[in-house]
Amino acid sequence: TDQQIWTREDKYHNSFLLKHDDGIEKAVANSAKNGLAEIAVSAAQGKFLALLTQSIKAKRILEVGTLGGYSAIWFARALPDDGELVTLELVESNAKVARENLEAAGVSSKVKILVGAAVDTLKTLPTEEKFDFVFIDADKPSNLKYFIEAKRLVRSGGIIIVDNIGREGKVGDASHQEPKVQGVRDLLAALKDDPDVEATSIATVGEKGYDGFLYSIRK
Ligand code: SAM
Repeated sequence: TDQQIWTREDKYHNSFLLKHDDGIEKAVANSAKNGLAEIAVSAAQGKFLALLTQSIKAKRILEVGTLGGYSAIWFARALPDDGELVTLELVESNAKVARENLEAAGVSSKVKILVGAAVDTLKTLPTEEKFDFVFIDADKPSNLKYFIEAKRLVRSGGIIIVDNIGREGKVGDASHQEPKVQGVRDLLAALKDDPDVEATSIATVGEKGYDGFLYSIRK
């Protein structure tokens, strides 16, 4: 099947480009042990996101949607010693697993997990304390709300990335009305005439299926 091919291709590329990381391996195992859904970014995507943050020398990163802290470990690894990741999670039991995973990976000191509904938590973050990079990866119907807050919190020239905008090719097919698909459409509709950002969608295939990132730069 297509999925088998994409998984094989990821595996092949990763065997050359990704180093073994004990913290990452432990996070995957501990997340599975605690019954967390396998909806973290893939390893290749985690490294891609980490490289993007390094290419703008990001020191402050904001993440919406922590789960077990898998992407958080990638971000934290990419940060300088005085860098900080603030990551937002609704479910306390997920945050607990994330704390364990971040601790085991040796990056807890760089990461602050804020538990609660992200729309509320975002509103408590002060506009003056800008982030260089924002990664939005939580409940998909709220994409636009998170994007609006992200625009307020990211510096000029900073990056906002929204995950899962490909949705197996359902976004352009009007027969699909699922809230997760609609969440992507709402975001795209708002971006059409948004003077604050330049954005593009990049589809991806790999071990996590056919999906994609929306990449945008804050003007
Ligand atoms: N970024 C993570 C990674 O790649 O390792 C994966 C995040 S997972 C796709 C989405 C997470 O968002 C889940 O842990 C879920 O509990 C959380 N979430 C769902 N609704 C939320 C909300 N309203 N506020 C904050 N987090 C929420």
